[in-house]
Amino acid sequence: ATRPYDDSNIFARILRGELPCKKVFEDDHVLAFHDINPAAPTHILVIPKGAYVSWDDFSGRAPDAEIAAFVRAVGRIAREEGLVAPGYRLLANTGGNAGQEVPHLHVHIFGGGPLGPMLS
Ligand code: 5GP
Repeated sequence: ATRPYDDSNIFARILRGELPCKKVFEDDHVLAFHDINPAAPTHILVIPKGAYVSWDDFSGRAPDAEIAAFVRAVGRIAREEGLVAPGYRLLANTGGNAGQEVPHLHVHIFGGGPLGPMLS
């Protein structure tokens, strides 16, 4: 079972406009922005606007339209950032063993250079 959603988390505050971000993309369902502490030359975070704690929570109970919009947005952002031909990596830390820090689902997009075997 997943924790209840805590709407004081930092990405909820970004979604409410209480904190700034370097926006990359936004539509009705999705916001994407640059990671504040980039671990790759391009490091973008993509989040759903709905209140989902993690990948587990989102995949379990989000409406199909939100899931489709999210998956398509991740792909579109990678294309628009020019990451497809050189290659990129997606990551969604989920829960304690993965070291998930922010309890609002986010998919990391890493690219812009060779990434090595693993990024956290
Ligand atoms: P996690 O470890 O939960 O998968 O990743 C959280 C990510 O959010 C980290 O890469 C961290 O640098 C990023 N992050 C944390 N706080 C902020 C913030 O206030 N703004 C932005 N743009 N990124 C943040």
